[in-house]
Amino acid sequence: MNCAFCQTTMKVYESNSPAPFVFDGESDRVCRDCDDFVSAARFFARTQEQAQYIQSLLEMAFHQRETRKESMKHL
Ligand SMILES: [Zn+2]
Repeated sequence: MNCAFCQTTMKVYESNSPAPFVFDGESDRVCRDCDDFVSAARFFARTQEQAQYIQSLLEMAFHQRETRKESMKHL
């Protein structure tokens, strides 16, 4: 299975709940590295709206990281 954030392949037993973040699939899980971000967000997100905001920020950051990695391959 793949992490809902960074798409890293992981074993089921390595996966973690993404709550309070919500993804498209009910069975979506996050990897151990991304779970550190999820755990930190649990302290700061007091409302679902705040959780959504932090999730959007992290998704954009992961997307930018992948884009940068791809572009570096072509240098
Ligand atoms: Zn991940």
